[in-house]
Amino acid sequence: MIYPITIPTNSDLRSFNFFIVEGSKGLTLIDAGINHEACWQQFLQTLQCHQFLLEDINEIILTHSHEDHIGLIPRIIEKHNIPVYVHAEAIPRLKREKSFFEQRTSFYERLYREMGCGTEGEQRVQQLKNIVIEKQNEGLRADYRTLSENDYIINRKVIETPGHAPDHIALIDERNNVMLGGDHLIAHISSNALIEPYMNGERRKTVLEYVESLQKCLTYDIDYCYSGHGERITAPHLLIHKRLKGIERKAEKFLSYISEEEKNSECTCPTFLP
Ligand SMILES: [Zn+2]
Repeated sequence: MIYPITIPTNSDLRSFNFFIVEGSKGLTLIDAGINHEACWQQFLQTLQCHQFLLEDINEIILTHSHEDHIGLIPRIIEKHNIPVYVHAEAIPRLKREKSFFEQRTSFYERLYREMGCGTEGEQRVQQLKNIVIEKQNEGLRADYRTLSENDYIINRKVIETPGHAPDHIALIDERNNVMLGGDHLIAHISSNALIEPYMNGERRKTVLEYVESLQKCLTYDIDYCYSGHGERITAPHLLIHKRLKGIERKAEKFLSYISEEEKNSECTCPTFLP
């Protein structure tokens, strides 16, 4: 049984969703919402409504480490210390490891310079540097356990779905063809493949990763997908095909811009005779 907790928002995301999954051995929380009092109250209310206690939750599983999916973890583990299952790439992000974030900031600094982002790029890098300092003591201390491709947890198969985030995973219940998909697939908007470096500082090809992750999902029978935002998806394969076509269209558009640019950059100077 899956009990959604939905926090509406006026933004394009429409809602922040996370889920209580009831299994034979107790409850599991999939993602942990936003760090906001209203979200906390909604979570407690959902537990109460189904006559559950916070102590009935055995573990938290994160689909990825973005801020809007981890918000209530500190409040939960302060009251009831349970393990947090994540992809290995989430750990330095959640712990806010200084060396990791410094390397990440240098990556964006290099990237913005290469892309000619000028003062806007410099300002953004400065913001990132400030955040590294401001948040250096805000690392999330928890009992982390890692999950990777083909692991099984709460009778669901873990599949790695990088693209939107390098540490993104989805859980598939193969008996009922239901996916807990995080932000890998969202019904009303296409999920961004955000620019990210590898741990070694090189740029990840996140759009290609995202395409591969979408294609991987096509190899599974999935009748429903519960997403981190918006409505439950009732025909995931159709939506995946739509998203793949959208990416293809966008790529063709960019390619045409590049070809235009190349044409325009051809030398048109008149030839001067000596
Ligand atoms: Zn999200």
